[in-house]
Amino acid sequence: MKIDITEVQRDTGASLEFEGELTLKDVQWQGEPISFPGPLHVDGRITNVGEMLVMNASVKGTAILMCRLCMGDFEYDLDFGFEAKLKDIPEQEDPDYFAYQGYQIDLTDIVMEFLILEIPSVRQCREDCKGLCPMCGVNLNEKSCKCTDAKSSDHTIDERLEALKEYYNGQGKEV
Ligand SMILES: [Zn+2]
Ligand SMILES: [Zn+2]
Repeated sequence: MKIDITEVQRDTGASLEFEGELTLKDVQWQGEPISFPGPLHVDGRITNVGEMLVMNASVKGTAILMCRLCMGDFEYDLDFGFEAKLKDIPEQEDPDYFAYQGYQIDLTDIVMEFLILEIPSVRQCREDCKGLCPMCGVNLNEKSCKCTDAKSSDHTIDERLEALKEYYNGQGKEV
């Protein structure tokens, strides 16, 4: 999604409203995939404040993230706003500004930079995701496996037979 800034660039105080659909490519972030099932809706305003352009925008859409526990995909709602400073400079040497050249601003990099900040550090498909069985790798949200059955029943037996074990131990000592 590109915005023609010919008009707004001319005069200090000029501003331009924009609205459109931004299609983002799937990315890898911190080794995990982020994909987009459809374009994001972006709307906002670009204002010429003299020494630079200021973009205020809001973004709505959906990202597909990977759950860290069960490795399954899940939808994450994106709904955020940002303010970006834009300068007509050849390269992005100043981290405070997004560089642009000519009379067009491409929203892709700008939106992506702010979008990454919206991605939660705890990426979990749901609060009570059971994850994968560490023994056999089965997705415990979908089915249970023998490993956990054995583990949990052992645990139950341990508790139930605690008294009996103590009894046997006591017997042993007496002999
Ligand atoms: Zn999960
Ligand atoms: Zn298992």
